[in-house]
Amino acid sequence: MRQPAQILHDVFGFGAFRGVQEDVIGRVMAGKHSLAVMPTGAGKSLCYQVPALAREGTALVISPLIALMHDQIRSAESFGIHAASLTSADGDEARQETLRRFKAGELDLLYVAPERASSGHFRELVGRAKLSLVAVDEAHCVSEWGHDFRPDYRLLRPLLDSLGDVPRLALTATADRQTRADILVQLGIPEDGLIVAGFDRPNIRYHVRPRDGVSSQLKALLAEQEGAGIVYVSSRDKAEKLAEQLAQGGRRRVLPYHAGLDPQVRARNQAAFVASEDMVMVATIAFGMGIDKPDVRFVAHAGIPKSIEAYYQETGRAGRDGDPAEAWMFWGAEDFLRARRRIETEVPDERRGGERHRLNSLAALVEAAECRRAILLHHFGEDPPARCGNCDNCLTPPTTVDATEAARKLLSAAFRTEMRFGIQHLTDVLAGRETEKVLNFGHNSLSVFGIADEDELALMKPLARALMARDALRADDFGGLSFGPGARPVLKGEEEVRIVLPPKKTRKRRGGGDAVD
Ligand code: ADP
Ligand code: ZN
Repeated sequence: MRQPAQILHDVFGFGAFRGVQEDVIGRVMAGKHSLAVMPTGAGKSLCYQVPALAREGTALVISPLIALMHDQIRSAESFGIHAASLTSADGDEARQETLRRFKAGELDLLYVAPERASSGHFRELVGRAKLSLVAVDEAHCVSEWGHDFRPDYRLLRPLLDSLGDVPRLALTATADRQTRADILVQLGIPEDGLIVAGFDRPNIRYHVRPRDGVSSQLKALLAEQEGAGIVYVSSRDKAEKLAEQLAQGGRRRVLPYHAGLDPQVRARNQAAFVASEDMVMVATIAFGMGIDKPDVRFVAHAGIPKSIEAYYQETGRAGRDGDPAEAWMFWGAEDFLRARRRIETEVPDERRGGERHRLNSLAALVEAAECRRAILLHHFGEDPPARCGNCDNCLTPPTTVDATEAARKLLSAAFRTEMRFGIQHLTDVLAGRETEKVLNFGHNSLSVFGIADEDELALMKPLARALMARDALRADDFGGLSFGPGARPVLKGEEEVRIVLPPKKTRKRRGGGDAVD
């Protein structure tokens, strides 16, 4: 039997293990169950590939994405590892051949999707084979707390339990504390089997700011930022439109990428991006997974990502070569409103709590006046220094103001006007302006009429944004503002509202409408 270090050297040609790889591999070699939480690029595959070669038998790798499986098989084969997959995409003949090789003990790695792995038929098949280990990739999919729950993962437990002492290795790049705890329980891994790698990406500089004419904001960014970059948008339509807007008058190539494009066009755009030194891809989150381009210099979000996990993963595609890279996020209150509405209307009851919690964590990151990196790393269970020196808030500490009193006034105005009016009207009421609308509704006789001073009135827009982000205010389809669960603690004086004042604009906005705002 070859030793792991020997395999690392002989098979992969690497000189040393990185980070926690050695610990993880050590546990698998000792036959123990483990959960490895390692950021993208930390080298998760090696953690099961090395023991798969060092131990007797075939390693079973459960993985949710057929496209990624095929990438990994190609990469494993390039190192001379015997790997194959059993999936619906493989065709009957290929599957028969894989089964034959598996039964004959010729495979080092067998990749399967969770639907297949959880079937009784498959359990019988592997029950007769010698397995070296079971790797469960993208293990956060097993948790309803996780951001990408897949019910098939829940059905894996009988398979795992039927395998007796075959070591289990769950792997994920993205799991907060709660999700980790859940994975351990769901997959029957002891608490001391949790191994977490460092999440910090010190070369990435984080910037988060309110959206204000996003195509102009991005054009300004593109004018200053060298190198290839990705701009994430939330829909196919926006990818197309924004790519066109950014290409206009710019000096570099900008292409769209989304799942609705013809596969050939998509492959072409992706290849152009990988080969390019300064191209910008305007993409939905369909873009990025499995794309090997270490010199992406910046990632920008034109709206909020789905969660902190998603943000970390998406921004993590910048600067994988270790050179300085930038992450930008331009957010708007309507992003949070839309996300909250989706949670309330489309998410099943049992997952709603988790999703709300995730969105609130994201809102806290976005609204924060403190170090962004500290918030990110804390979210992933680390205990980072209070300031990193390489994020917007550390570099240019923002001005914050205590807007608690103004927030109470704004909430009261919404309440007194029966929660049907938008921010402009509420501001008019608080300012004591006798507009036609104010007079028509008789709002000039309300107790809140004219109670705000100039300083407070100047805060109304960022304040409304902040209150919407923390779900104290919600907007209906016509912009009417009503209370969310976050309103009560503010009104009762239990929570203070500090808001970050947006940085003063230094660049002139260029003309042209912003179709994607
Ligand atoms: P992950 O799945 O965690 O995102 P990968 O397994 O794809 O990461 O590994 C990322 C890259 O790092 C791969 O190119 C891999 O070959 C390389 N790598 C992994 N471990 C080592 C190591 N110990 N030494 C050098 N390179 C490594
Ligand atoms: Zn910082």
